[in-house]
Amino acid sequence: QLTNGNDIFKSLNKAQCRAVISDAATVAILAGPGSGKTHTLTSRVVWLLNHAGIPPQDVIVATFTNKASNEMKARIGHALGDGRERGVIIGTFHSIARRYLVKYGRRIGLDPKFGIADDSDSRGIITRICKRLDTHIEPPIARAWISKRKAKGTSDEQTVRDKKGRNVESQALETCFQEYQDQLERSNLLDYDDLLVRCVELLRRFPQCVSNIQTVLIDEYQDTNGVQYDLMKLFAQKHRRVTIVGDPDQSIYGWRSAEIKNLHRLLRDYPGTDEISLEENYRSSSCILDTALNVIQQDQDRYKKVLLPVRDKGTRPVLRKLKSSTDEADWIVSEMKRIRLLSGNMIDFDDFAILLRSAALSRHVESTLGREGIAYRMVGGFKFYERAEIKILLDYMRVIHQPDNNDAFARIINVPKRGIGEVTIKALLEEAERSSTSLWQLVDKHCRGQRRAKTSIRQQTENALSGSLIKLLNNLRERVRSDTGLGTPMNLVELIRKLARDLKFEDYLEATYGAEYESRWTNVQEFITLAEEFMRQNQGDEEALPTIDGFAQASDDDILARFLSNVSLASDKQTEDKDQEGKPLVTISTIHAAKGLEWPVVFIPAVYNGSIPHVRAEDQSEERRLLYVAMTRAKALLYLSCPQSIASGGGRSTEISSFIDLLPSSAFLPKGPSFDRPIMSSVAKILGRELPLDSVIYKGIPSMTAPEDNLFPVDPNQPLDSHTAGEAGHGGAWRHKRQKLQHPAKS
Ligand code: ATP
Ligand code: MG
Repeated sequence: QLTNGNDIFKSLNKAQCRAVISDAATVAILAGPGSGKTHTLTSRVVWLLNHAGIPPQDVIVATFTNKASNEMKARIGHALGDGRERGVIIGTFHSIARRYLVKYGRRIGLDPKFGIADDSDSRGIITRICKRLDTHIEPPIARAWISKRKAKGTSDEQTVRDKKGRNVESQALETCFQEYQDQLERSNLLDYDDLLVRCVELLRRFPQCVSNIQTVLIDEYQDTNGVQYDLMKLFAQKHRRVTIVGDPDQSIYGWRSAEIKNLHRLLRDYPGTDEISLEENYRSSSCILDTALNVIQQDQDRYKKVLLPVRDKGTRPVLRKLKSSTDEADWIVSEMKRIRLLSGNMIDFDDFAILLRSAALSRHVESTLGREGIAYRMVGGFKFYERAEIKILLDYMRVIHQPDNNDAFARIINVPKRGIGEVTIKALLEEAERSSTSLWQLVDKHCRGQRRAKTSIRQQTENALSGSLIKLLNNLRERVRSDTGLGTPMNLVELIRKLARDLKFEDYLEATYGAEYESRWTNVQEFITLAEEFMRQNQGDEEALPTIDGFAQASDDDILARFLSNVSLASDKQTEDKDQEGKPLVTISTIHAAKGLEWPVVFIPAVYNGSIPHVRAEDQSEERRLLYVAMTRAKALLYLSCPQSIASGGGRSTEISSFIDLLPSSAFLPKGPSFDRPIMSSVAKILGRELPLDSVIYKGIPSMTAPEDNLFPVDPNQPLDSHTAGEAGHGGAWRHKRQKLQHPAKS
């Protein structure tokens, strides 16, 4: 009766089913990684649409990354089969907030054409202000303070200490904050905090905007911050129906003010919440899960949960210490090639992920993969959109969309070279600031000669040059608008192509980068492909919010605005999924961006003290949780590695991460004839795949490990434990004395 022609229930266990059909107003699922929280949440959306009769546009689903939103939408679409998922309001908190602000922002005095200041924009503006105010405030400190100040409305910290331990008066910070806010306003920009804070303001003052919303569902709840919590409550203000899923052990955004106490707030604010726990892990082999649990259980204060493996035992994780980061990267890549061969291509490159504590670590693996001709995709914190050539084009597009964006305009005014020097740009910026106008308006005024200022020959030249820039931009602005009567407006791709042509961008790149220009030009092509892709995915007006009866809409969103904000909001920025030849791609991701995802084989390089836990990390437990998140992404094979010494700091030698050092050596696969046939069959079983019979060709595949690079050398004569698919018994000689931890309790 439950299935009712719908097979979503076939893939749910009892507890998951209960969560899906619960008719409590508030449902909270707290459970470990891989227990099917996201799967359950997705199924609940399908249930609500199909069985509870809720119209799609009355449902808000908040996910943590754009990638997760797209995936969830696709899954819901698959289950529904009639395209209704397109109406559901799915996105990150930031992107949902943006949609409401674009549509209704006028009501709170916003110009709906606002642009978004991303992290690097904010950083740039604050750095300039700090310099100008001539205080000793460190820009990152000011930035963190401002962010907190915005999120909380006030600042609880009266003084903060700078890097040198000096006190910074909150008064100075407050001035900095005011200046920053003024500049954003003048440029019609909202930063990430503003998006949320202003949306809270909108929904408080005009609850009508969300009067249709019947239910709100949130994935990765452990990482919501105070403002996001307020937003959740405001979205759900009419019907107070909320479903949240999360795992306190995977809370890794404390540095962005995520608050675990939001959980207690929820239980207090929504009495009668149906609390459901899921206790089975469907993702990882039990060996991998055991080791990961062993890491997280080092935290004495955590909220304890049950997590039992459903999958086979599989193989213990591999831990290797290599000489250098280059050797480490080489080892990882050759190990990938070896597994691929061993498995007779049952495991291919797209089954591998390399998860990094920080984006800066990617250099070595990138260069090895590049040398080996293995295609890869980068996710999270990597800089495709921050590459110089792409940033220029984006800045042009930002100014076309919104000419008062001072920072973007200042960056392009002399790119390609127009003979306008840094000094002039700075003077212009200052003049604009003094006269509370925007750079664009000022330059425009100069060009029209409306200013009676003394015009030196030099100034006249500058005026003429920037005049041609203004002309070019004005022309493009006209062309992208649909209301100018100039025929069909230019679409995104046409716009980028025309920009590149008008700017003679290829010549510019050649003149600037010499031999390197070809790869830069390829990036421009890739950028065009991304825009094409974006247009394909956003053909209809899918992001449009429903129009509320009796509450007229303020304005509509255009594709250029959506594209630009998509670029700014992609916390999970990534390059294209398939390269031109459609090769399977290895994923390189930050751990933060890998949250919620899974891969058959996961590599975690650089597990040394200073990297994880990170040198600058304030909260050691959060670093441990980060490692736990990384480890629990793996389904069948997990590799941890670390270089003996790192180049930075003049060849400093490293210590293995204390989180790993605390584990018994028996947690890892001892050196031996690893990855033989039985292990591959067990991997195949865990992944639910067929191991090709002819994969016996592994005979000729070299063993990858040299005896000295193994942290836990084992007696080569020690027999393998036959009933665990090649998995060696808990042998493993001890090299160091370690604190023995209890084997993960299954309770
Ligand atoms: P994380 O905490 O890492 O986000 P999660 O709890 O959200 O994990 P999911 O990603 O939803 O877990 O599920 C993990 C894997 O288990 C997925 O591949 C999913 O398809 C599978 N899965 C979930 N529930 C079941 C089930 N009842 N039967 C079989 N497979 C399941
Ligand atoms: Mg999940």
